[in-house]
Amino acid sequence: TKETFANIKKTDETTQAFLNLNEDAAIKNAQAIDQAGIDADNVLSGIPVAIKDNLVTEGLTTTAASKMLENFKPIYSATAVEKLAAKQTINVGKVNMDEFAMGGSTENSAFKITKNAWDATKVPGGSSGGSAAAVASGQVPVALGSDTGGSIRQPASFNGVVGMKPTYGRVSRWGLIAFGSSLDQIGPITRTVKDNAAVLTAIAGHDEHDLTSSTKKVPDFTAGLDDSASVKGMKIGLPKEFIGEGVDADVKAAILAAADKFRELGATVDEVSLPHNKYGVAAYYIIASSEASSNLQRFDGIRYGYRAKDVQNLEDVYVKSRSEGFGDEVKRRIMLGTYSLSAGFYDAYFKKAAQVRTLIIQDFQKVMQDHDFIMGPVAPTVAFTIGEEVSDPMTMYMNDILTIPVNLAGLPGMSIPAGFSKGLPIGLQLIGKPFDEATIYKAGYVFE
Ligand code: GLN
Repeated sequence: TKETFANIKKTDETTQAFLNLNEDAAIKNAQAIDQAGIDADNVLSGIPVAIKDNLVTEGLTTTAASKMLENFKPIYSATAVEKLAAKQTINVGKVNMDEFAMGGSTENSAFKITKNAWDATKVPGGSSGGSAAAVASGQVPVALGSDTGGSIRQPASFNGVVGMKPTYGRVSRWGLIAFGSSLDQIGPITRTVKDNAAVLTAIAGHDEHDLTSSTKKVPDFTAGLDDSASVKGMKIGLPKEFIGEGVDADVKAAILAAADKFRELGATVDEVSLPHNKYGVAAYYIIASSEASSNLQRFDGIRYGYRAKDVQNLEDVYVKSRSEGFGDEVKRRIMLGTYSLSAGFYDAYFKKAAQVRTLIIQDFQKVMQDHDFIMGPVAPTVAFTIGEEVSDPMTMYMNDILTIPVNLAGLPGMSIPAGFSKGLPIGLQLIGKPFDEATIYKAGYVFE
């Protein structure tokens, strides 16, 4: 643990992944684990982990990378954080993200710009950019992230690591600072598929604090990974929309090469179609922003965090605290969401988006009827240059065209490294049936 901190302090001068180190508590925790004795059957015992800063951690400042929560010390920990701690992992600190998980480059953090682990002029992706960069740069082998529209998979792809967004309901959202509650899921970012499977096994399961968490039994996701015949006979769908217009030629080539590898191992890969995929981004920005505008109402200058000074009356407290505490992207989403939900516009926007969501779900169901899983890229491009897209929200939003539909349908999706373009990693996305993370872990493991 001491070595981990020494290394983080050195490497984070460049990477800038961490917002807050948990050094004293972590070292005490490591000593306690030493004394209790390492459990040889528990592969996670003593492993350092980094936690995305939108997961509350008891007594440890949790900001969601927002000025609004700059000095917020939670009085409890998220269930996923508790479950990892119960496995004797060591929480070394909180990592950077886009403010309230809104963004795809970590440039929307109120505090710092995290760098891509492969090239410090490039973004690490987002919103879990700190989690992915910390794992890819060798600071920690495990980090937790959250994914509402791609925020685990896209930064994993941009940094060449493994990121799993589990099925909606697989992991309790208790203690995750809510963004889009019908879309949000917590998941692991790791260097290998096997590590990832071990962490998901630890954090998954029903939780009485989150009634959307599933009561389905959690399998040991590491079981059977070493079986070399694991993808033999599987049927894989490759949606033509995922390798069409807008997808970089090198990214497309890497995905086609991965398809060939699956074929060599005895699987079949055939072209399928998700015709409503193209409406995913539009529907998502209405649904996610509507839910966000509601979830963020609690930040009123009274209950949590930042309160403006020099205020005249209660309304002034609300208006000034929110104006000064939230960044531009968060305000943009609140305005979009409030508008979509307002009387007179609800039918035209929110209701329409909900209907489109159903069509997207049905597209997936149709393909999954006769396929074991779906493959494609995670993002249309590799990591872009810092500063290049941040002033252009529409371009930024379109980056998520291949990840967003998976959240709208609540399916599990994983990013695994599948090659390089001009020195930057390309991610392969594997999308499974509901609660069938096991199949995509097996399929991803063949690339290890
Ligand atoms: N980039 C997407 C957004 O800005 C997804 C973010 C996420 O998954 N948290 O909303």
